[in-house]
Amino acid sequence: IVSREVQPDNTVVHVRGQAIGGGAVQVIAGPCAVETAPQMQQAARLVREGGARLLRGGAFKPRTSPYSFQGLGVAGLDHLQEAARQQGLPVVSELMDIRLLDTFLEYDIDVIEIGARNMQNTDLLKEVGRINKPVILKRGLSATVSEWLMAAEYIAIGGNHNIIFCERGVRSFDPAARNTLDVTAIPLLKRETHLPVIVDPSHAGGKAWLVPALSCAALAAGADGLMLEVHPDPAQAWCDGDQALDGAAFGNLMAQLRPLAQVM
Ligand code: PEP
Ligand code: MN
Repeated sequence: IVSREVQPDNTVVHVRGQAIGGGAVQVIAGPCAVETAPQMQQAARLVREGGARLLRGGAFKPRTSPYSFQGLGVAGLDHLQEAARQQGLPVVSELMDIRLLDTFLEYDIDVIEIGARNMQNTDLLKEVGRINKPVILKRGLSATVSEWLMAAEYIAIGGNHNIIFCERGVRSFDPAARNTLDVTAIPLLKRETHLPVIVDPSHAGGKAWLVPALSCAALAAGADGLMLEVHPDPAQAWCDGDQALDGAAFGNLMAQLRPLAQVM
C-alpha cells in the first residue's frame, strides 16, 4: 500500500488545514516533554512566533532509565492542548500504549507519533491503522529502510493511509553524536514510497548546535518537513535539554531555512 508502484503520486497528509508532503516544508516544533502548563504555553508561543505550524509535546516519554521523568501522562495532554488552542496550532504527541488510544482520541490529538522504540510494536501499529488520525512513524533505533516500510504497511493495512515517515538518526559505531542522521534514507524513501518523509534533527544530533546543519541537510535531501525540539529554557528542561533550541535559536534557524525551501 505504501509503495510508489501502487500509487505514483505523492500523498499529501492533511492536519487541520496544514498539508504535509504538499511541496512546502512543514515544521513541527515544541518541547521533548510537557513539563508544566506555563512551560508548555511559553513553548507554544515561541513555536508559533518562530513560524512553525504544528506543536509537539510528549506526555508519555519512553525513557532509557525507569528512574528518569516518564512524562506527566494525561495531565500533559491537557497542558499540551490548552497551549495549542491558545496559539491555534494542531498537536503531535507520542502514543506508547494501545490502552491509551481512546484517551488520545478524546483529547483530539491531531497527529499520533509512534516513537522509534515502538516502530515494530506491530499490535500498536495495527491499532493506529484503524483510526483516521495522521500518524508519524519514527524510524527504529537500528531499523533498515525495508523494515521501516513494512512497519508503515502494518498501519496502512487497517485503512489509515495518513502516514508520515520520520528519520531521527540511527545507531552507528560513533558516539560523537547521539545518533547518525541517515540523510541517504530520505531520497531512498521518497523513491520507494508516495508518503511524506520528515526529519527529526534534534534526536539525530543530540546537541542544539548540530540542529541547524542537520536541518539544512534534510531539506537539501528532499525532506517534506522537520520536527524540532524547542524549549523556553533548555538548561532547565526535564528531558533532552542539550538538544533543545531556545526561542532565539529556533527563530534564527527558521530564518536560515526560508531561502532553502518553501517553508510553510
Ligand atoms: C520523541 O520524539 O520525543 C522521541 C522520544 O523520539 P524517538 O522516538 O525518535 O527517540
Ligand atoms: Mn526528546
